Amino acid sequence: MNRSEHKGKLFIISGPSGAGKGTICKRLIDETKVEISVSMTTRQPREGEVEGKSYYFTTKEDFLKAVEADGFLEWAEVYGNYYGTPKAKVDEKLAAGIDVVLEIDIQGALNVKEVYPDGIFIFILPPSMAELRKRITGRGSETEESLKLRLSQTLKEVSYIDKYDYCVVNGELEEAVARVKSIVVAEHSRVSQNIYKLIEQYKEEV
Ligand code: ADP
Ligand code: 5GP
Repeated sequence: MNRSEHKGKLFIISGPSGAGKGTICKRLIDETKVEISVSMTTRQPREGEVEGKSYYFTTKEDFLKAVEADGFLEWAEVYGNYYGTPKAKVDEKLAAGIDVVLEIDIQGALNVKEVYPDGIFIFILPPSMAELRKRITGRGSETEESLKLRLSQTLKEVSYIDKYDYCVVNGELEEAVARVKSIVVAEHSRVSQNIYKLIEQYKEEV
C-alpha cells in the first residue's frame, strides 16, 4: 500500500466561542480513534487547563520564533492572542494513517484549506445567541470585555459557513456528538483509492 492510500483524514472543527467545539472534540477523541492536534497559544491558561494537553502555553516572543521557523501548519491572532497548529505532528500522524482533528478558528481553517483541500470542514453552531452567552458566562472563563468581543465576532464568523462541508447545531450535546461521529464514519465510506485495491482483490478471487 503506498503512502497516499495510507493517509489519515484531517477534520477541521470551527465555530463561535462557546458553541461547544472543545466539549464535542473531547468526546470525539475519547470515543473514537481520531486524535487531536494540541495548539500553541499565547493566551493565559484557564483553570483546569493542562500544559501539553489543552494547549502548549507560550510567550508572544517564543510564538513568533516558531512562526519564523515555519513551525505552524497555520496560525492566527484570535481575540487578541496568538494560536497556531504545530505542523510536524499533524503531518506525522496523517502519514501514519491516523485521523486528526484541528479545533481552530475560521481564519486558520481557511488557511488549512489552502494546504489540505481534502480536509473535512465542520462548523459548530449554538442553538441561539442567548444560549451562547449563557454557555460562555457559565464557563466562567472570560472577563466582561472578552465576553463582548467573543459575542460580537459571532455573526462575522457564521458568514463564512459556506466554506465548510458540514454544519452541526449543538443544542442537545448527545445528538451533536452523534452527528459529528457520523460525519467521521461517512467520510471513511467515500469511494477512494483503498476501494479500488479491494476490487482488484475480487478480480483475483473470481
Ligand atoms: P468552545 O470550545 O466552542 O469555546 P466549550 O466546549 O468550552 O465551547 O463549551 C462552552 C460551555 O458550554 C462549556 O461550559 C460547556 O460545558 C458547555 N456546553 C457545551 N455543549 C453544550 C450543550 N450541548 N449543552 C449545554 N452546555 C454545553
Ligand atoms: P479559546 O481561547 O476559547 O481556547 O480559543 C479561542 C479560539 O481560538 C477558538 O475559536 C479556537 O477554535 C481557536 N483556536 C484554538 N487553537 C487554534 C489554532 O491552533 N489555530 C487557530 N487558527 N485557532 C485556534
